[in-house]
Amino acid sequence: MVHQSYAKTNNIQYDTLPNKFSGTPSFCAKEPPADPNIPESLIPILMKRTKSSLDAWIGPLKSSGKRDSNWDVNYYTIPRDQQEKYDYTKCDVVISFLKSPPKGQNNVEILGLHYFRDGKNYIEIYYQGYGICETRTDVATYWYSCQQDSPKLIVAMEAILRHELGHSMGLGHYVSDEVLYHFGSGHPSSIMVPILDVINSPTHVPIDPELLEIMPVDLDKIRQIYGNGGWGNQKKSELITQQSETKTIQLKGKTIIEKISGAIPKNMYKKDQRLDVVLTKPDGNTKSYKVAVSSTGKYTYSFIIPDSMTPGKYSITLKYTGDELRKIPYEIISLRK
Ligand SMILES: [Zn+2]
Repeated sequence: MVHQSYAKTNNIQYDTLPNKFSGTPSFCAKEPPADPNIPESLIPILMKRTKSSLDAWIGPLKSSGKRDSNWDVNYYTIPRDQQEKYDYTKCDVVISFLKSPPKGQNNVEILGLHYFRDGKNYIEIYYQGYGICETRTDVATYWYSCQQDSPKLIVAMEAILRHELGHSMGLGHYVSDEVLYHFGSGHPSSIMVPILDVINSPTHVPIDPELLEIMPVDLDKIRQIYGNGGWGNQKKSELITQQSETKTIQLKGKTIIEKISGAIPKNMYKKDQRLDVVLTKPDGNTKSYKVAVSSTGKYTYSFIIPDSMTPGKYSITLKYTGDELRKIPYEIISLRK
């Protein structure tokens, strides 16, 4: 009997992103806006499913974790009428449901998007083009996609949400030679297969988001990033932001350089992770900078104050992996009349 064997090359690459939680993360899900494309009756269910998509990650991590590991998360639903005045500072991840991607937005995946800005994760799930229709009978209410054959919009949105949640936890894409063959025939090997790339691939393999499930390789990757201890036991409230007193700077006809230096707490330090510096101007606008951190955790940021700077109240916030380390208020005054 002759055994045949096939040389199977299968290069797998599973990237990580620079964003990483330190301590129990908070997820904030905003209710979708009132929109004829989404029946009102669907909203509470959509919000419930959003929570269960997060639980799909957290459940297995918790059940396989050590006794003292911390895979806890905070979850907040933000009703429509509270969204404008909501305090988003506690949110590590803000989840929104939008009609369509904002113009000029890059990296949009089929139904969703993840990006990391100023220490915060943003997930957007888009429903335009799908259009959810509703049919009521005496016994039940059905929702289905108006434009597509598939009556599985919610399932698809959930799958994309699970994928984007993976990004928010620091997972990049899972790229494998084998990925393409899985479509149409079963679950891809990872929830983090690059959805966009598959769609754009020359073979045009249609993706069925319904097939995207969180797989063991995804949970392993999370454990690899965070360790078996979980996110870390550093609770948000324990991380005390150093609030400095207002520094007054008087413009004197030449550029002033304010050196701000310090060190990242040892338990937070992550190799190649840069410090985020956010300058808030008197008009409330912000400007962000990235500052390199040395291998010993030290950083220096030079706040350059040209003589032409508009007088007023400024503040500089230093953030590291999303956590606020320091906030330094400045009052810039000019004696010129
Ligand atoms: Zn992705």
